[in-house]
Amino acid sequence: QAVFQSDIGALMEQVGTGKESLSFMKRRIRRLAAQWASAARRLDDKLRNHWREQKRILVHVGFLTEESGDVFSPKVLKGGPLGEMVQWADILTALHVLGHNLKISFSLKELHGFLGVPPGRGSCPLTGPLPFDLIYTDYHGLQQMKQLMGLSLRKHKCHIRVIDTFGTEPAYNHEEYATLHGYRTNWGYWNLHGQQYMTMFPHTPDNSFMGFVAEELNETERLNIQKNKVKNMAVVYGKETNMWKLQGKEKFLAILHRHMEIHGTVYYEAQRPPEVPAFVKNHGLLPQQELQQLLRKAKLFIGFGFPYEGPAPLEAIANGCIFLQPKFNPPHSSLNHEFFRGKPTSREVSSQHPYAEQYIGRPHVITIDFNNSEEFDATIREIMRINVEPFLPYEYTCEGMLERLHAYIQNQDFCSPEAPFPPVNSSQTWLGSAPSPFNLLPNSRILTWASNASSFSSWPPLTALRVVASLESESCVKACQTAGLICEPALYRFINIRETFSALDFQCEGVESEKNHLFPAFSAEHAECSLQQDPLLFSCAGSSAKYRRLCPCRDFRNGQVALCKDCL
Ligand code: UDP
Repeated sequence: QAVFQSDIGALMEQVGTGKESLSFMKRRIRRLAAQWASAARRLDDKLRNHWREQKRILVHVGFLTEESGDVFSPKVLKGGPLGEMVQWADILTALHVLGHNLKISFSLKELHGFLGVPPGRGSCPLTGPLPFDLIYTDYHGLQQMKQLMGLSLRKHKCHIRVIDTFGTEPAYNHEEYATLHGYRTNWGYWNLHGQQYMTMFPHTPDNSFMGFVAEELNETERLNIQKNKVKNMAVVYGKETNMWKLQGKEKFLAILHRHMEIHGTVYYEAQRPPEVPAFVKNHGLLPQQELQQLLRKAKLFIGFGFPYEGPAPLEAIANGCIFLQPKFNPPHSSLNHEFFRGKPTSREVSSQHPYAEQYIGRPHVITIDFNNSEEFDATIREIMRINVEPFLPYEYTCEGMLERLHAYIQNQDFCSPEAPFPPVNSSQTWLGSAPSPFNLLPNSRILTWASNASSFSSWPPLTALRVVASLESESCVKACQTAGLICEPALYRFINIRETFSALDFQCEGVESEKNHLFPAFSAEHAECSLQQDPLLFSCAGSSAKYRRLCPCRDFRNGQVALCKDCL
């Protein structure tokens, strides 16, 4: 049984020393230790009587190994990206606090040792059983494990979880399909189960949402923040000079400067002056703790469009700032923006931080067109006028992350073969002689599972299922969202049957079964109903003007979109 542990001594030792990235993570782990400990106590109370199996877990952080070139560590103190390190530090702490048996590797040598593969022999199949129940790694680590284990990786890959900031959609993950249909990238095509990829924000639900944490405030700190806010103080998001080179920024910077004092935390070298306008009070790159202090005073945290989707805006909002960011019109994606090019996702990024825009919104987050000077000016005035409370979504608190990770670890299973569906033995079918396992919810176009849900084992449970048909050109991500629900790929197999079409009143001329990441779907033009032939291609993402897609949606917990109401 796994027992919650609040002492971080053993964890700190395992992380080791010798690199700036490791020191950054250790500073973070130490700083947040008390917060994790009190979250663990609360979750322990909440989960009373729950048996939690202790798992043997390996964490192999591929991008920080020397063998992958580790470009990150040398830049930790020079304005390089820190989001990934924030997330890995939090994943390590959460796994440790949940009480699992944890091994951590930051090099190929350690990986060899933990897997019991002798070093220096090239690819070497792992003949015995895998000594771990779960392996958390990243794309670099996955590649290294393939080189190490050769074909035997295939046998063990159901135990792997890939930490993948921006996500990987099923069409890009499926090797044969990606190759045939132009979805091949440098990253995808590992033929994993989509939910084995774990993202930094809840992007497409085809992947699992891992996340990270931001600091929570106690009552005294909340009160102090309210007292000490400086209403004309703005902090600019970003620590690299690049974003100051953005075209057109002079106009909105001039407006901002007219109303507010502008602070920055841009890295610069002692002998070279910082490349920011003279009226910006640049503090240089700050230690995380000092950045928090700066955010506690500031009223406004403003993004210029880059970096995308990092942790800093959540930290700012948690410290009572309003986050102002540009809307992207048209949205940025792998089709039109260098940064996303070659990433295994078709996601359209509607602003600098879509999570802040869509999940938090006003009054904490304001997303506008920065080219519209009048709107920009009016917004700055409004921000100086209004008061907002510090806010942190539950899923980004330590308790929220522990709860989510606990639920994944105990329930997600990509190793056991799934029972065939629909059931082969006719005595096991849904309501005996009933033509369909679905019920139509009153006054809606939404189906629920009518038959005995508990006779089909699944997680999330079938009780959470709500079937919706998308509009033409609409993805299941969107269709579920519009219905106030979230798409749940794990439930696709239950709706990939001809009975779903009739329950939704689609009259099929014919029913075929094909490999297409948009299926199951209905094509109005030909009155054709298409089922999905390959479960690896079940995908919430993706749309086409030709199809109305069948979407397995589910409910979710308030502030914890990854979990359905009956998921704990
Ligand atoms: N950060 C910091 N000092 C600074 C600016 C940022 O320690 O002067 C931290 C910040 O607290 C956040 C992390 O850098 O947790 C990553 O922030 P960002 O959103 O910029 O994401 P990135 O682009 O680095 O992945």
